[in-house]
Amino acid sequence: MMNDTVTDAPAMEPTAAGRQARLAQVLACPACHAPLQLDGGEIVACAACGHTGKRLWKNGSGQLKFGGFDSEELTADALNRIKEHVKKRFNKVYPTAIKVLSPVMDRNLIMPFLRSFNLEHDLVADFGCGTHRRDQRVICMDGGTYPNVDIVTDLRRLPLAEGSLAGGISIAVLEHVPDPAAHIAEMHRVLRPGGRMLVFVPFMQPFHASPYDFQRYTEVGLREQFPQFEVLSVKVGAGPTSGMLWTLQEWLAMLLSFGSMRLYRAILPLTWILSPLKLLDLLLAHHPAAAVTASGFVIEVRKPA
Ligand SMILES: [Zn+2]
Repeated sequence: MMNDTVTDAPAMEPTAAGRQARLAQVLACPACHAPLQLDGGEIVACAACGHTGKRLWKNGSGQLKFGGFDSEELTADALNRIKEHVKKRFNKVYPTAIKVLSPVMDRNLIMPFLRSFNLEHDLVADFGCGTHRRDQRVICMDGGTYPNVDIVTDLRRLPLAEGSLAGGISIAVLEHVPDPAAHIAEMHRVLRPGGRMLVFVPFMQPFHASPYDFQRYTEVGLREQFPQFEVLSVKVGAGPTSGMLWTLQEWLAMLLSFGSMRLYRAILPLTWILSPLKLLDLLLAHHPAAAVTASGFVIEVRKPA
């Protein structure tokens, strides 16, 4: 039985209700950072400054919406239009399909990081989750309105109080934003002192708009992005075969399409047959020279206590 004061709140699935209950403790206005109260209504208004967000009940999750991308932004690029369509239609299997078909083999670093927290007790967020839900207890945030997302938001203006999270992950997000420093500063604000972040960024990867793509990072360049944090480790997050393979697939599609974008788009999926070669990164990601042409890096940082 729910609390008497919120009897008008529509029913939620239990895991979503659990996340929302924990979120309610730390929710803050993205504009002025004053605490925000949740009720069963569809409008969430800041009592201090009047800034409003929405609560979407249609998939039973009580998803909060404070901004994010509009659908034109998500579909402006042709390839991304297809990706967004597939993501929306096949939300549940999209992460698995990408895992199998993609030329990039990520090292298994995310789940061990999440398991280093007591997720029943420690609040951890995925900043830019896309269609992933890596654990039912993790708060999922993204600019895109996917069903798995708890808070749709501009990731530079998080609706969370200062110091409210024990941890966070940002997986292949910073390359897609024009001002990564603003994102890093905002993640720093909402982390509690001693809180830890795991961040994956690409190095040797072709252009991939989602809906935008702005930058790549070398190993040393990545360390420079987190001046307000202690750097705990930087590792190869995806190895050199992944770096080479994705570029090779793009190159083959160009070589065999004789200047035709239609042919190029038709050939590209055929080149995915080469993707299992990524398994070579089980070995090569550990080579001492792997960082020279790695597909991407993972950095773990801590907000000083
Ligand atoms: Zn406000």
